[in-house]
Amino acid sequence: MIHFVGAGPGAEDLITVRGAKLLEQADVVVYAGSLVNPAHMERTKDGCAIYDSASMTLEQVMDVIIPAAQAGKKVVRLHTGDPSIYGAIREQMDILDAKGVPYEVCPGVSSFCGAAAALQAEYTLPNVSQTVILSRMAGRTPVPERESIRALAAHGSTMVLFLSSGMLGKLAEELIAGGYAPETPAAIVYKATWPDEKVFRTTIAGLEQTAKENGIHKTALITIGGFLGDQYERSKLYDPAFAHGYREAGT
Ligand code: SAH
Repeated sequence: MIHFVGAGPGAEDLITVRGAKLLEQADVVVYAGSLVNPAHMERTKDGCAIYDSASMTLEQVMDVIIPAAQAGKKVVRLHTGDPSIYGAIREQMDILDAKGVPYEVCPGVSSFCGAAAALQAEYTLPNVSQTVILSRMAGRTPVPERESIRALAAHGSTMVLFLSSGMLGKLAEELIAGGYAPETPAAIVYKATWPDEKVFRTTIAGLEQTAKENGIHKTALITIGGFLGDQYERSKLYDPAFAHGYREAGT
């Protein structure tokens, strides 16, 4: 069996209990060394074979995990955050399906959740935004035109941008062209939940300069929107005047 496991955003105790158990039992671990905290490897047992996929191709990863799984070994393919977000797991699962090798996916805490925790913020505030858009700037991986930052910005929702901290001038231009005011609050969260986590609060117009001044060009998320401001309405869920299935009004 092969387990795709989300390692969480960075802090070594932000892997799930299930993910940690799978690592403890693994005979073979292939981890994405560019972003997964190497401290997770300390959970593995003696004799566990460990590979860093940062320098490997898809084919090389398959050449490690498929024979191991076929030999009855327990294999963990460890991805950063949650594997479903920019994790490149689909292409791995398709090869395993074609070869009849069984696998399971263990979710992880995505870095966008880690960033909200670092900001002590709520992405979905009543009367501000009820939608979180997770996206990225086009880089070497293209983004479909209908999902350009400019097109998504038209919603004025909360946005969390991955893989984009090296192109913040262009990002700000696109956000503004799409309809956000230049003074819309924005934050850069660098290495959320790692010991060297850093949070920079700015505005869309200030993104590029803030990153430059602080030497941030990778391993950061860019968050955008009024959720970083002071204005919002309190929730209906905990409003004394509001009844719902678990509570009567006036209690
Ligand atoms: N699957 C991962 C995302 C992988 S894409 C997840 O769920 O979080 C890699 C990008 O994620 C990085 O370029 C960066 O934008 C973001 N990222 C990953 N870990 C991060 C962290 N701890 N802090 C801030 N950004 C992070």
